[in-house]
Amino acid sequence: MKTIIQSYRFYTDDPKDAAAYKQLVEKFSALNTQCFRTWGGSSHYFPQFETPTEIELETKFIFNNQWNTTPIPGISDKGLRVFDWAEDYPINFSDSIKRGHYLIITPAMRNIRHNTVACGYCGRQEPITLIPSTPVFCHHCLNNAYLKKEDLHLLRFRRIDDPTDRPKLTEEEHSYLNLLYTDAQTQLNSKRAAAKRSKVHETYIKKTESALRERDGFLWLLDNNINTENVIYYDCTQKFCFGWRTPVSPKFAAAISGFPFPHEIKSEK
Ligand SMILES: [Zn+2]
Repeated sequence: MKTIIQSYRFYTDDPKDAAAYKQLVEKFSALNTQCFRTWGGSSHYFPQFETPTEIELETKFIFNNQWNTTPIPGISDKGLRVFDWAEDYPINFSDSIKRGHYLIITPAMRNIRHNTVACGYCGRQEPITLIPSTPVFCHHCLNNAYLKKEDLHLLRFRRIDDPTDRPKLTEEEHSYLNLLYTDAQTQLNSKRAAAKRSKVHETYIKKTESALRERDGFLWLLDNNINTENVIYYDCTQKFCFGWRTPVSPKFAAAISGFPFPHEIKSEK
Protein backbone atom coordinates (compact mmCIF):
# COMPACT_ATOMS: atom_id res chain seq x y z
CA MET A 1 0.00 0.00 0.00
CA LYS A 2 1.63 3.19 -1.17
CA THR A 3 1.65 6.61 0.41
CA ILE A 4 3.78 9.73 0.67
CA ILE A 5 5.99 10.54 3.65
CA GLN A 6 7.18 14.04 4.38
CA SER A 7 9.59 15.25 7.06
CA TYR A 8 9.45 18.78 8.41
CA ARG A 9 11.50 21.11 10.59
CA PHE A 10 10.14 24.47 11.62
CA TYR A 11 11.73 27.16 13.78
CA THR A 12 8.66 28.77 15.31
CA ASP A 13 10.63 31.85 16.47
CA ASP A 14 10.50 32.75 12.79
CA PRO A 15 6.98 34.07 11.96
CA LYS A 16 6.99 32.39 8.53
CA ASP A 17 7.81 28.97 10.03
CA ALA A 18 5.34 29.56 12.86
CA ALA A 19 2.56 30.17 10.34
CA ALA A 20 3.50 27.07 8.35
CA TYR A 21 3.54 24.95 11.51
CA LYS A 22 0.17 26.34 12.62
CA GLN A 23 -1.24 25.34 9.26
CA LEU A 24 0.09 21.80 9.71
CA VAL A 25 -1.45 21.50 13.18
CA GLU A 26 -4.79 22.79 11.91
CA LYS A 27 -4.73 20.35 9.00
CA PHE A 28 -4.27 17.38 11.33
CA SER A 29 -6.81 18.68 13.88
CA ALA A 30 -9.37 18.79 11.07
CA LEU A 31 -8.50 15.20 10.16
CA ASN A 32 -8.69 14.17 13.83
CA THR A 33 -5.13 12.81 13.63
CA GLN A 34 -3.28 12.82 16.95
CA CYS A 35 0.40 13.73 17.04
CA PHE A 36 2.64 11.02 18.46
CA ARG A 37 5.15 13.19 20.32
CA THR A 38 8.07 11.30 21.89
CA TRP A 39 11.78 11.28 22.31
CA GLY A 40 12.99 7.72 22.58
CA GLY A 41 16.59 8.22 21.51
CA SER A 42 15.90 8.24 17.78
CA SER A 43 14.31 11.06 15.90
CA HIS A 44 10.98 11.14 14.07
CA TYR A 45 12.64 13.62 11.72
CA PHE A 46 14.11 11.83 8.69
CA PRO A 47 16.19 14.38 6.71
CA GLN A 48 15.99 12.20 3.59
CA PHE A 49 12.22 12.77 3.48
CA GLU A 50 12.35 16.59 3.46
CA THR A 51 11.26 16.03 -0.13
CA PRO A 52 7.93 14.18 -0.21
CA THR A 53 8.77 10.55 -0.97
CA GLU A 54 6.65 7.59 -1.97
CA ILE A 55 6.90 4.63 0.41
CA GLU A 56 5.25 1.23 0.60
CA LEU A 57 3.41 0.28 3.80
CA GLU A 58 3.17 -3.27 5.16
CA THR A 59 -0.38 -4.44 5.74
CA LYS A 60 0.30 -7.69 7.61
CA PHE A 61 -0.44 -5.99 10.92
CA ILE A 62 -2.44 -2.81 11.15
CA PHE A 63 -2.03 -0.17 13.87
CA ASN A 64 -4.29 2.76 14.61
CA ASN A 65 -1.58 5.44 14.39
CA GLN A 66 1.51 3.92 12.77
CA TRP A 67 2.79 1.62 10.02
CA ASN A 68 5.75 -0.55 9.14
CA THR A 69 7.24 0.15 5.75
CA THR A 70 8.75 -2.36 3.37
CA PRO A 71 12.58 -2.16 3.07
CA ILE A 72 13.68 1.18 1.66
CA PRO A 73 16.89 0.76 -0.41
CA GLY A 74 19.72 2.92 0.90
CA ILE A 75 17.73 3.96 3.98
CA SER A 76 16.58 0.86 5.85
CA ASP A 77 17.01 -2.82 4.96
CA LYS A 78 14.32 -3.84 7.43
CA GLY A 79 11.91 -1.00 6.75
CA LEU A 80 10.96 1.85 9.05
CA ARG A 81 8.31 2.41 11.68
CA VAL A 82 6.46 5.51 10.55
CA PHE A 83 3.49 7.35 12.05
CA ASP A 84 0.47 9.13 10.68
CA TRP A 85 2.06 12.13 12.37
CA ALA A 86 4.99 12.05 14.80
CA GLU A 87 7.15 14.74 16.26
CA ASP A 88 10.25 14.80 18.48
CA TYR A 89 9.52 15.73 22.07
CA PRO A 90 11.91 18.62 22.83
CA ILE A 91 14.12 17.18 25.58
CA ASN A 92 17.52 18.10 24.22
CA PHE A 93 16.54 21.10 22.16
CA SER A 94 14.37 24.19 22.21
CA ASP A 95 10.58 23.88 22.18
CA SER A 96 10.56 26.33 19.29
CA ILE A 97 12.02 23.65 17.00
CA LYS A 98 9.22 21.51 15.63
CA ARG A 99 10.45 18.52 13.70
CA GLY A 100 9.00 15.19 12.70
CA HIS A 101 7.20 13.51 9.85
CA TYR A 102 3.73 12.76 8.60
CA LEU A 103 2.04 10.61 6.01
CA ILE A 104 -0.61 11.37 3.48
CA ILE A 105 -3.50 9.29 4.84
CA THR A 106 -5.04 7.78 1.73
CA PRO A 107 -8.56 6.33 1.46
CA ALA A 108 -6.96 2.87 1.21
CA MET A 109 -5.19 3.41 4.56
CA ARG A 110 -8.46 4.51 6.18
CA ASN A 111 -10.33 1.58 4.65
CA ILE A 112 -7.94 -1.09 5.85
CA ARG A 113 -8.13 0.29 9.40
CA HIS A 114 -11.89 0.37 9.22
CA ASN A 115 -12.22 -3.06 7.66
CA THR A 116 -9.80 -4.93 9.91
CA VAL A 117 -10.81 -6.13 13.35
CA ALA A 118 -8.52 -7.09 16.23
CA CYS A 119 -8.83 -9.17 19.39
CA GLY A 120 -8.09 -7.07 22.46
CA TYR A 121 -6.39 -9.99 24.20
CA CYS A 122 -4.10 -11.75 21.71
CA GLY A 123 -3.99 -9.05 19.03
CA ARG A 124 -5.14 -11.39 16.26
CA GLN A 125 -6.43 -9.47 13.29
CA GLU A 126 -9.02 -10.48 10.70
CA PRO A 127 -10.05 -8.61 7.58
CA ILE A 128 -13.81 -8.05 7.70
CA THR A 129 -14.27 -8.01 3.96
CA LEU A 130 -12.71 -11.42 3.28
CA ILE A 131 -14.87 -13.31 5.75
CA PRO A 132 -18.59 -13.50 5.02
CA SER A 133 -19.42 -13.21 8.69
CA THR A 134 -16.53 -12.18 10.89
CA PRO A 135 -17.07 -13.75 14.31
CA VAL A 136 -17.89 -11.32 17.10
CA PHE A 137 -15.30 -12.87 19.38
CA CYS A 138 -11.79 -14.20 18.88
CA HIS A 139 -11.61 -17.96 19.42
CA HIS A 140 -7.89 -18.17 18.85
CA CYS A 141 -6.80 -17.34 22.41
CA LEU A 142 -9.54 -19.16 24.36
CA ASN A 143 -7.07 -21.85 25.41
CA ASN A 144 -4.38 -19.39 26.50
CA ALA A 145 -3.27 -20.43 30.00
CA TYR A 146 -2.97 -16.78 31.09
CA LEU A 147 -6.47 -15.79 29.95
CA LYS A 148 -8.70 -15.09 32.96
CA LYS A 149 -12.48 -15.29 32.98
CA GLU A 150 -12.77 -11.60 33.85
CA ASP A 151 -10.86 -10.70 30.67
CA LEU A 152 -13.17 -12.53 28.27
CA HIS A 153 -14.75 -9.26 27.07
CA LEU A 154 -11.34 -8.39 25.53
CA LEU A 155 -11.92 -11.14 22.96
CA ARG A 156 -14.56 -8.99 21.30
CA PHE A 157 -13.25 -8.08 17.83
CA ARG A 158 -13.06 -4.33 17.24
CA ARG A 159 -12.24 -2.32 14.16
CA ILE A 160 -8.69 -0.91 14.29
CA ASP A 161 -10.00 2.64 13.89
CA ASP A 162 -12.49 2.26 16.74
CA PRO A 163 -11.07 4.18 19.73
CA THR A 164 -13.82 3.24 22.19
CA ASP A 165 -13.43 0.69 24.99
CA ARG A 166 -14.79 -2.78 24.42
CA PRO A 167 -18.26 -3.10 25.93
CA LYS A 168 -18.76 -5.55 28.81
CA LEU A 169 -20.33 -8.87 27.88
CA THR A 170 -24.07 -9.26 27.99
CA GLU A 171 -25.30 -12.17 30.09
CA GLU A 172 -25.97 -14.18 26.95
CA GLU A 173 -22.51 -13.45 25.54
CA HIS A 174 -20.94 -14.34 28.85
CA SER A 175 -22.57 -17.76 29.08
CA TYR A 176 -21.69 -18.47 25.44
CA LEU A 177 -18.02 -17.50 25.83
CA ASN A 178 -17.67 -19.06 29.24
CA LEU A 179 -18.70 -22.43 27.82
CA LEU A 180 -16.17 -22.19 24.99
CA TYR A 181 -13.49 -20.96 27.39
CA THR A 182 -13.97 -23.82 29.86
CA ASP A 183 -13.87 -26.38 27.03
CA ALA A 184 -10.77 -24.83 25.46
CA GLN A 185 -8.99 -24.68 28.81
CA THR A 186 -9.84 -28.33 29.56
CA GLN A 187 -9.49 -30.17 26.30
CA LEU A 188 -6.34 -31.07 24.46
CA ASN A 189 -5.47 -28.88 21.53
CA SER A 190 -4.34 -31.39 18.91
CA LYS A 191 -2.00 -28.92 17.19
CA ARG A 192 -0.09 -28.26 20.38
CA ALA A 193 -0.24 -31.87 21.58
CA ALA A 194 2.42 -33.09 19.15
CA ALA A 195 4.84 -30.34 20.14
CA LYS A 196 4.22 -31.00 23.85
CA ARG A 197 4.71 -34.75 23.34
CA SER A 198 8.12 -34.26 21.73
CA LYS A 199 9.08 -31.72 24.42
CA VAL A 200 8.25 -34.26 27.16
CA HIS A 201 10.47 -36.86 25.48
CA GLU A 202 13.27 -34.35 24.98
CA THR A 203 13.18 -33.32 28.65
CA TYR A 204 13.21 -36.97 29.73
CA ILE A 205 16.28 -37.76 27.60
CA LYS A 206 18.13 -34.64 28.78
CA LYS A 207 17.43 -35.30 32.46
CA THR A 208 18.27 -38.99 32.17
CA GLU A 209 21.59 -38.27 30.46
CA SER A 210 22.41 -35.68 33.08
CA ALA A 211 21.53 -38.01 35.98
CA LEU A 212 23.69 -40.81 34.49
CA ARG A 213 26.62 -38.42 34.02
CA GLU A 214 26.33 -37.19 37.64
CA ARG A 215 26.17 -40.77 38.95
CA ASP A 216 29.07 -42.06 36.83
CA GLY A 217 31.23 -39.01 37.61
CA PHE A 218 30.88 -39.34 41.36
CA LEU A 219 31.37 -43.14 41.18
CA TRP A 220 34.63 -42.55 39.25
CA LEU A 221 35.82 -40.17 41.99
CA LEU A 222 34.86 -42.62 44.76
CA ASP A 223 36.54 -45.51 42.92
CA ASN A 224 39.70 -43.37 42.66
CA ASN A 225 39.65 -42.39 46.37
CA ILE A 226 39.10 -38.70 45.65
CA ASN A 227 37.59 -36.48 48.37
CA THR A 228 34.24 -35.30 46.92
CA GLU A 229 33.51 -32.52 49.46
CA ASN A 230 34.87 -29.87 47.10
CA VAL A 231 33.16 -31.18 43.96
CA ILE A 232 29.80 -30.14 42.58
CA TYR A 233 27.82 -31.21 39.54
CA TYR A 234 25.88 -28.49 37.73
CA ASP A 235 22.77 -29.94 36.12
CA CYS A 236 22.22 -26.80 34.01
CA THR A 237 25.60 -27.03 32.24
CA GLN A 238 26.05 -30.79 32.79
CA LYS A 239 29.56 -30.14 34.04
CA PHE A 240 31.48 -30.97 37.22
CA CYS A 241 33.31 -28.26 39.06
CA PHE A 242 36.36 -29.02 41.23
CA GLY A 243 37.24 -26.40 43.82
CA TRP A 244 33.82 -24.71 43.96
CA ARG A 245 34.20 -24.11 47.71
CA THR A 246 37.98 -23.60 47.91
CA PRO A 247 40.50 -23.64 45.02
CA VAL A 248 42.18 -27.05 44.77
CA SER A 249 45.89 -27.81 45.18
CA PRO A 250 48.16 -28.95 42.31
CA LYS A 251 48.19 -32.41 43.95
CA PHE A 252 44.38 -32.59 43.77
CA ALA A 253 44.42 -31.39 40.15
CA ALA A 254 46.95 -34.12 39.29
CA ALA A 255 44.83 -36.78 41.04
CA ILE A 256 41.80 -36.05 38.83
CA SER A 257 43.74 -35.58 35.59
CA GLY A 258 42.09 -38.67 34.08
CA PHE A 259 38.53 -37.63 35.00
CA PRO A 260 36.54 -38.57 31.89
CA PHE A 261 33.56 -36.18 32.12
CA PRO A 262 33.19 -32.48 31.22
CA HIS A 263 34.50 -30.38 34.09
CA GLU A 264 36.26 -27.24 35.20
CA ILE A 265 38.94 -26.87 37.87
CA LYS A 266 39.34 -23.88 40.16
CA SER A 267 42.99 -24.16 41.23
CA GLU A 268 45.18 -22.38 43.75
CA LYS A 269 47.12 -19.54 42.14
ZN1 LIG B 1 -7.64 -13.45 20.74
